[in-house]
Amino acid sequence: MASTNLLAELKDFADFMQSGAPLAPFTQLKIGGPAEVLLQPRSLAELSAMMKRCLDRQLGFRILGSGGNVLVHDEGVKGIILRLGAPAFTQITSEGSRLSAGGGATLAAVIAHATHHGLTGLESLVGLPGTIGGALLLNAGDRNSDIGQFVRRVDVLDNQAAVQTREHDELRFTSTGTILDDPLLLSAEFKLETDRAETIVKRLRKAWIQYKATQPYSYQASARIFKNPPGLNAAVLIEQTGLIGTKVGAAQVSERHANYIVVEGGATARDVLRLIDLIRTRVQNRFHVELELAISVW
Ligand SMILES: Cc1cc2nc3c(=O)[nH]c(=O)nc-3n(C[C@H](O)[C@H](O)[C@H](O)COP(=O)(O)OP(=O)(O)OC[C@H]3O[C@@H](n4cnc5c(N)ncnc54)[C@H](O)[C@@H]3O)c2cc1C
Repeated sequence: MASTNLLAELKDFADFMQSGAPLAPFTQLKIGGPAEVLLQPRSLAELSAMMKRCLDRQLGFRILGSGGNVLVHDEGVKGIILRLGAPAFTQITSEGSRLSAGGGATLAAVIAHATHHGLTGLESLVGLPGTIGGALLLNAGDRNSDIGQFVRRVDVLDNQAAVQTREHDELRFTSTGTILDDPLLLSAEFKLETDRAETIVKRLRKAWIQYKATQPYSYQASARIFKNPPGLNAAVLIEQTGLIGTKVGAAQVSERHANYIVVEGGATARDVLRLIDLIRTRVQNRFHVELELAISVW
């Protein structure tokens, strides 16, 4: 349950606030406990007001996208979780070769829109779970391309909860994420190329087949766990420790890609954390390499 103090600080936002809200349905692993408080504003005005309150009163908050990179503890998360799931934050529009998408729009919806409007570039991101906010913050992608290369500008809420536009030159996209000094990514504009829809669909199919061949099965809830250590591949290191398929409780090292943990019904965050410890210890003992988590544990 939320503390009375926190509820009192947020009482003006009761219309879009839930205390003790389950977070598991909003994550890809579908496990973990509730949020002390979940805020899901319905408009920019509501979002700015609640962010201003948080900043003024120094109330920490975390933003949850589609939870592709988040593991929530079984006990849940203290404090405020913010989601941009309302239509005000998931809109996608395009004009010419420019496509704009809200921070809460899913990559899948953005790619579908782009394809429908004959816009190409984002195909290699097909299949990847994520919202525009999460994907941009982590600069999601693969070895061939990342989302950052298509971004022209982003709208953010800054440290005063005011909307600001950051041009491409002000952003820095690295292999591990985007350097952004603002607390919230509101929307992004992408510069794509035009092409025939049928040609884009063909490329999408090819990218989908390639991506899915190395991923856990679609029916499995899963998460990509470790960063690749410099010059090394986390999956290869894990494979060589013989841990593929190893289970702890209802969490298992994926048989299709060793850097993924898949979970069965009844799994707990504790199962996943124990499996992570086991993998780390084995890799450390065998290769003297310390695997760093890619996933955030909340
Ligand atoms: C099966 C599977 C396959 C994956 N494959 C890949 C892959 O091939 N390549 C890859 O790069 N990643 C991959 N990932 C990791 C992950 O899905 C992506 O990085 C994705 O972009 C995360 O987006 P999200 O919306 O789920 O973010 P979340 O996991 O919800 O959040 C990630 C971070 O972004 C922050 N955030 C979210 N929204 C906003 C916002 N609007 N403003 C500011 N901060 C925000 C969160 O606070 C958090 O710190 C995979 C994950 C899974 C589960």
